[in-house]
Amino acid sequence: MKAILVHEFGPPEVMRLEDAPDPQPGSGEVLVRVKAAGVNPVDTYVRTGAYASKPSLPYTPGSDAAGVVESTGAGVTRVTAGDRVYVHGTLSGAYAEFALCKESQVWPLPDGVSFEQGAAVGVPYATAYRALFQRAHAAPSETVLIHGASGGVGVAGTQLARAAGMTVIGTAGSERGLQLVKEQGAHHALNHRSSGYLDELMSLTGGRGVDVILEMLANVNLDKDLNVLAKHGRAVIVGNHGTVEINPRSAMSRDANILGMTLFNATEQDLKGIHAALVAGLANRSLRPVVGQSLPLADAARAHHAVMESGAYGKIVLVP
Ligand code: NAP
Repeated sequence: MKAILVHEFGPPEVMRLEDAPDPQPGSGEVLVRVKAAGVNPVDTYVRTGAYASKPSLPYTPGSDAAGVVESTGAGVTRVTAGDRVYVHGTLSGAYAEFALCKESQVWPLPDGVSFEQGAAVGVPYATAYRALFQRAHAAPSETVLIHGASGGVGVAGTQLARAAGMTVIGTAGSERGLQLVKEQGAHHALNHRSSGYLDELMSLTGGRGVDVILEMLANVNLDKDLNVLAKHGRAVIVGNHGTVEINPRSAMSRDANILGMTLFNATEQDLKGIHAALVAGLANRSLRPVVGQSLPLADAARAHHAVMESGAYGKIVLVP
């Protein structure tokens, strides 16, 4: 098969399209013919070699994909050859023509959801779901700020919160992104690059602030977030690229909670619950992954540059 291989950690250009042996499913494993693979920021962190968990070299990047089950190993009961599936996590890497997965990493892709959309589900939707419901325990009628709503996790969070009956305020840093955020169901869209946008948020909430924040760039925003939280508010740190100084008094005065999260800490049971909800949302169309850019697999390096640029617009996917 053709696969992206990384032989040494480094810049995006270390990713090369090469020939690799076709994987064979062992007991409890599923081989998926990849029709599209999702590109996540974490794929770029891993590629540099600076991320906490380092794969042994050479490796094929990527954890998210969608495609068709090619074959299954002994004992697999949930899927059979020919099934349309999306994949969250693989054993062999997603940037390839085939991905070897554990049975528990493969989920049904409902009719009407394209493979490219399916490749946009795994990490972004599972992260947004875990942040909203398993960490912040967000509830219908609450107000949620999706701080960075134009990218993969933000679009997912916006759709999930809206479908659950919350009031959603989403931010983006470009006109195109703001338009997308509104189209995905946010009641209000604010530009996180405009001065005074959080004052506008306070007036939109009648001075009360928001109950929940999903924060995509905590090193820039966490201190400001604490000042726009309502009493008993919860801020979930989803994304962070550095350090930040906060005034703890802002949290004290509100009985606020600052919650960290990394999806890798979700148990198999947590993920079962998350994906049951996501499959239902995809089937009833309350979840509609947005693919902003679809590139050939050979352009993986270009995709890694693009995913780290500002002006996000949904997901970037690679097509083998
Ligand atoms: P993405 O598709 O690249 O989107 C990035 C988002 O951050 C865009 O909406 C972008 O908006 C926004 N952003 C940029 N500057 C911002 C600012 N000053 N304030 C608020 N938002 C800002 O990435 P993603 O897949 O959604 O992931 C978002 C972050 O979460 C990444 O850092 C990623 O590594 C992290 N993440 C963490 C977990 C976890 O388990 N904790 C899981 C998945 C992702 P504009 O481009 O429109 O400015």
